Parts: sequence; C-alpha cells; structure tokens
Amino acid sequence: MGNFDDLLAANQTYAADFHLGGFDGIAKAGVAIVTCMDSRIDPLRIVGLSPGDAKILRNPGGRVTPQALEALVLAVHLLNVDRVVIIPHTRCAVASNSEEELRAKVSEAAGQDASWQPLHVITDQVAELHHDVQKVRSHPLIPDTIQVGGFIYDVDTGLLEQKF
Ligand SMILES: [Zn+2]
Repeated sequence: MGNFDDLLAANQTYAADFHLGGFDGIAKAGVAIVTCMDSRIDPLRIVGLSPGDAKILRNPGGRVTPQALEALVLAVHLLNVDRVVIIPHTRCAVASNSEEELRAKVSEAAGQDASWQPLHVITDQVAELHHDVQKVRSHPLIPDTIQVGGFIYDVDTGLLEQKF
C-alpha cells in the first residue's frame, strides 16, 4: 500500500468533477481504435474524439491479435462500432528491433534471461498492417459494411497517414 497514493489522490480530483456516470458503454462515435501501448499516443485526441466515443484496444505494436479480434466482434455487434482504425506508429520498439535485440534489452534490464519470452517483433510494419487490416475485413463475424482502415501515426509530427 502507498505506492499508488499519487494516482488515488488524482482520482479523487477526477471523481469530484465526474460527468460520465450512467453512460451505457457503447462507442458513441462508432469507432474502434487498435493501437500501440506507446505513451506518445493519445488515441482519442489524435482523431478528435472524447471519452465515450470509441473502443480502444492497445498492445505492443498495435497489432490485430486474437484478443483484438474478439473485442472487435463484440464492438461491431454489441457496441455500435461501424469503423475500425488500426494505428501502429513510427519509431515503435517492436518494429525497429529484431526479436533477438529486443530480448537482449529485456534480459539486460531484468538481470535475467528473457530469451524464452516471445515479443512478436515485426520486420515490415506496412506489410503487417496490411495483413492486420485483412484479418479484420475477412473475419466471418465482421460484416462487409464495417469500414476498416490502416494508418501509421507519426510520433514526431502527430500526423496520421492512411495506408489501407
Ligand atoms: Zn509501439
């Protein structure tokens, strides 16, 4: 206890001015965003959205993982989503290191062997993005009426570039 005091204090301030209560949890703007865990990305604000507008799925690299696909099936059928945007980004650790390099960095930081830990590094970010877009478009439970876009977010300019 005590290690989270700063966060809990901030939460008290947040809750004192809370105005999202009673909301039903659908994506009001009909958008789902799949993006990286990178702290340089503010997924809602980069596309002009606010809390309540979108479903946000994050993981290293912004990949369409099996869990992301599960979430998207729920999102399009139960949560009002009709557009899916997939947003990996420039200077992403999992796209700019080899699996061996990244494992070596983790091993060094951890002070123990991390060579057994899969990190799912990618070597061709745009090709993987295309693959991920196709995974969503071709999923049997995601209708063709759902718009799926693949973009690269530039962490140095704040700009999105549509690839697919
Ligand atoms: Zn990243």
